[in-house]
Amino acid sequence: MKPINEPVARKSPQSTSSNRAFIQEMHARFNGQCQSCGQRMDQRVAHYRRVDPNQSRSVDNAILVCWDCYRGHRNPALEGFPAEEAVIVKVAGLTGWNESIVVAWLSEFAKRYALTAMNSHGFRRYWSWDRELPFRIVDVENGRIVRVKRARAGGTGQGVLGAEAVDPDCQAPAP
Ligand SMILES: [Zn+2]
Repeated sequence: MKPINEPVARKSPQSTSSNRAFIQEMHARFNGQCQSCGQRMDQRVAHYRRVDPNQSRSVDNAILVCWDCYRGHRNPALEGFPAEEAVIVKVAGLTGWNESIVVAWLSEFAKRYALTAMNSHGFRRYWSWDRELPFRIVDVENGRIVRVKRARAGGTGQGVLGAEAVDPDCQAPAP
């Protein structure tokens, strides 16, 4: 806790940093899960919604939501994304699974991964901490899975998530 009288440089009472701090708090409170559709996500792409729009923002009057639910869209990951043929072939080659298992796995993957980055040009990156999964990173572009990647060596834990998995060019739009 900072002393109340400590001088603080601030742009405005509703500065970006205070918004970010609130989202961090909400992210921790709801364990990084969208309270509307269930999508897990990194705090960098998280948003919040007031439960009662007539009441002021507070932890007791807000829920964590993903970008899609924030905008009133349906999260496309709920239906799953089709994969590029090259991705299906790559996954089949590396796992030994047959193609129908690969297609089924890829269409369901987002339920076990967290959305960690996205931009307004149709890019979404999903990440999983689960080492049992064959791929830790899945990239979606314009509604199609275009890339899967193993994590880099040493890529563990939440601290690394922010540094490694979130491309600075692929930030979420401001809430
Ligand atoms: Zn959602």
